Amino acid sequence: MFTRKETKVINVGGVKIGGGNPIAIQSMTNTNTRDWKATVKQIKQLQDAGCEIIRVSVPDIECAKNIKLIKKNIKIPLVADIHFDHRLAIESIKQGVDKLRINPGNIGSKEKVMELVKEAKKAHIPIRIGVNAGSLKEVHDFSTTKDKAKALVKAAIEHVKILEDCDFGDIAVSLKASDVETTVEAYKLFASKRNYPTHLGITEAGSIFRGTIKSSVGLGIMLAQGLGDTIRVSLTANPVEEVRVAYQILQSLGLRSTGVEVISCPTCSRTKVNLIKIVDELEAALSKVHNKNTKKNIKIAVMGCVVNGPGEAKEADFGIAGGIGEGILFQKGKIICKVPEDKWVKKLLSMYKKSI
Ligand code: SF4
Repeated sequence: MFTRKETKVINVGGVKIGGGNPIAIQSMTNTNTRDWKATVKQIKQLQDAGCEIIRVSVPDIECAKNIKLIKKNIKIPLVADIHFDHRLAIESIKQGVDKLRINPGNIGSKEKVMELVKEAKKAHIPIRIGVNAGSLKEVHDFSTTKDKAKALVKAAIEHVKILEDCDFGDIAVSLKASDVETTVEAYKLFASKRNYPTHLGITEAGSIFRGTIKSSVGLGIMLAQGLGDTIRVSLTANPVEEVRVAYQILQSLGLRSTGVEVISCPTCSRTKVNLIKIVDELEAALSKVHNKNTKKNIKIAVMGCVVNGPGEAKEADFGIAGGIGEGILFQKGKIICKVPEDKWVKKLLSMYKKSI
């Protein structure tokens, strides 16, 4: 297990972030917040996928006024994402939001920030200072800045100080750039200066394919160094995918568990069943099973042949190794019975459900 950096704990509507608490998984809606019903519908899908904190963008007062309605209809803490206008942050606080994310690069004067901090303090809600490389006022041309990581951290610390000067310490920080190297360096540098919890992410990471890889590499490096208290994977996709990817990143590092892991072989000329289709169907079916007992990680093996299959999947709780149009079901290394190819998914799914 990786040694995690000791950070301060903040409370986001009942979800504790920092101080060694489980790394919380966040996402952001891509509906129009003015359409509160569509927003609630998407948040419910994200809740079902295991999202623990959800952020909505609040670009105008109508969106801010919808916060109360949205909050009433969902079960996870709600964060308001505010740009340009501190009054939207103040209205969101009035409507009961659980946390604010402000981008200090575009929120305006120090006085305006101080005004909203005063309200956040009264409401006991945390603020995330979300510094984004793309919108740094301090750096006129970020692309030609030599030390980009240093510029991000400088901007973050300046705004942390404004909050600290208001005697406000319920802070989380993010320092996002779209390239992995700058982001990793920035988080490392920030962690050497302050112990506020950090929200990790690689911004504008891209499509499901590219974004998943870029986020996994970037977040993986930082998490393995003990950095990060909450993560958001940014994908140009349905946000449910962000949650699924986030869990897999954390599960790969042993930092969280979804309760299930599928071990499958890459297939080769020995494979005589449609293993790729079977594994896709099994993954899709498993993602719909709500497993509350995530402490126990069930390993299911789906292997292409009996020659190497069971041996390669020794650590699995149970699994199937393929023959011609059928497979041998094994459990804890022992052979149980034969299962026809078209019944594999159903069988493995029912065994999983029984074991949780
Ligand atoms: S388990 Fe069998 S089918 Fe799958 S890759 Fe290994 S040898 Fe090939």
